[in-house]
Amino acid sequence: MEANPSLSRLLREEGLPPGGILMSFVHYEIVGHIDPSDPVAADWPPHPKVVRVVDPAPVVRVLSSMAKKIDHIVHITSDGFVRCQWSSDLSVGRETVELFVRRLADEIGGIVMDQEFHVYYPDSAKEVYLSQLPEILQRMQEARMRWDQQRALLMANYRPMPFKLDVRQHETIPCPYCGKPLRTYLAKQCRFCKMDWHDPDNVHRRE
Ligand SMILES: [Zn+2]
Repeated sequence: MEANPSLSRLLREEGLPPGGILMSFVHYEIVGHIDPSDPVAADWPPHPKVVRVVDPAPVVRVLSSMAKKIDHIVHITSDGFVRCQWSSDLSVGRETVELFVRRLADEIGGIVMDQEFHVYYPDSAKEVYLSQLPEILQRMQEARMRWDQQRALLMANYRPMPFKLDVRQHETIPCPYCGKPLRTYLAKQCRFCKMDWHDPDNVHRRE
């Protein structure tokens, strides 16, 4: 049985592969200081809601404790969580990845979740997560509605000016993801929230 079918469906409805908001066909685990009862940020598209950023020191410590070198598939994102991208080197093996993420979560007192934001470690965090799942999904639905409204407003307010192309280039419109001003109306990425929509099939957050 799929652990979290509603969330998967929510992501698919948006034309994204489940969990594929960052990059399509990329598989990773997330470790961070994240509240298991509220693990997903309220803005759309969803991303982990970090309570505080991960300190690099314990990450380095746990990496060096690993028998297998996996530094190349682990990094701390600009949002302050650790991403272990096991699909970028399948020779590492899932057991090693699972060992690392659990060890790191223990070390920092954080939690582990997969790229669809299913919190699964430690057990106490998983229990909290599962007990709050309806509320978590509800908030995601609401976030998605706000995002749709924002996008509709953006389209409604857009008035192309037929002349003076040079002037138009200096016009700005709000980012459809965070609402802050884009550099130009032609922008396909946002310097504030780091979303990048150059390729509509691969909308992702730049790191
Ligand atoms: Zn933005």
